[in-house]
Amino acid sequence: MIDTTTLQKIQTIIQSGKKFILTTHVNADGDGIGSEIALLHYLRELGKEVHVFNHNPTPENLEFLDRRDELQLFDAAKHAEIVREADAVFILDISDWERLRELGKLLKQITVAKICIDHHPLEGKLGDVDWIFTNASSTGEMMYELLTKLGAHLQGKMLEALYTAVLTDTGGFRFSNTNPAAHRIAADLIARGVKPHQIYQEVYEKQSANKMRLLGKMLSSLNFSPDSRLVWFTVTQDLMKATGTQPRDTEGFADFPRSIDGVELCLMFLETEKRQTKISFRSKGKVVINGLANRYGGGGHPYASGALVDGNFQQVVQQVVEEAKELLG
Ligand code: 5GP
Ligand code: MN
Repeated sequence: MIDTTTLQKIQTIIQSGKKFILTTHVNADGDGIGSEIALLHYLRELGKEVHVFNHNPTPENLEFLDRRDELQLFDAAKHAEIVREADAVFILDISDWERLRELGKLLKQITVAKICIDHHPLEGKLGDVDWIFTNASSTGEMMYELLTKLGAHLQGKMLEALYTAVLTDTGGFRFSNTNPAAHRIAADLIARGVKPHQIYQEVYEKQSANKMRLLGKMLSSLNFSPDSRLVWFTVTQDLMKATGTQPRDTEGFADFPRSIDGVELCLMFLETEKRQTKISFRSKGKVVINGLANRYGGGGHPYASGALVDGNFQQVVQQVVEEAKELLG
């Protein structure tokens, strides 16, 4: 729940400002993008000037939320001035400067009002107003609450965007973050006209055949610890080249092996173009995993976290697998 003071602060910033910037973390997902789109439409209806700057292109399966191409790839040379002149910046679904890349560096230097709305744990302070609520299923849940309390008239794309945010971050109302609010919000959005099967088709049933081929290769090359409680797999640059896929095609892969009976932890190691290792940590719920992600400079939720690590790919894999085994005891 949003407290009255935070709500009033955000309300004042919105009322008194004219120009707003919205952003979310790198590799933006349905929650980040859905929350952006909902807030974008609300602010536009109030007659505000709004720019949404992200750090990667919108994933294809979320493009239906942004048919008018409002989400822009942040380019410091082109956009820094716009950010400097803004009255406020909304930082959504993230409370970590690193994961805001170039825009994060710029924001740290300038005095524009920053409002952070996030459900990841934050130690200390990030913006001028931080609304951090780790019990929320998603930032979409928080955005729904904020917009409702601000008296927004939820309609059109806002409805689809909020539904997508809650749907995707809860893994389709399956993950441990699924709470009564997620279902209440979904029910309200459906009552207002959202068609769940349409959103489901847009988000999950427009996958490329190449992605399926990559998934097949990944599923046939799983590694198990001797007691089979830990499962891990790697996605290398070579494998992506061979299947005509990109890192974003691996979205959701880490969730699959967790469904194997007896598996407690799943690790995905993705070799990035810059030869870094993107690790996805997934736990079935007995072992808290974000401490391990933290150790590698990452973070996230207790049962779903991630990190981006420098160094030799195979060595990183070996080291993290060993530590994960120790964690399982
Ligand atoms: P995924 O494995 O799907 O990329 O991310 C799972 C969760 O971990 C998400 O909540 C995401 O925000 C968080 N996460 C992923 N990568 C990083 C990272 O490099 N740093 C931090 N702090 N969190 C991450
Ligand atoms: Mn989220």
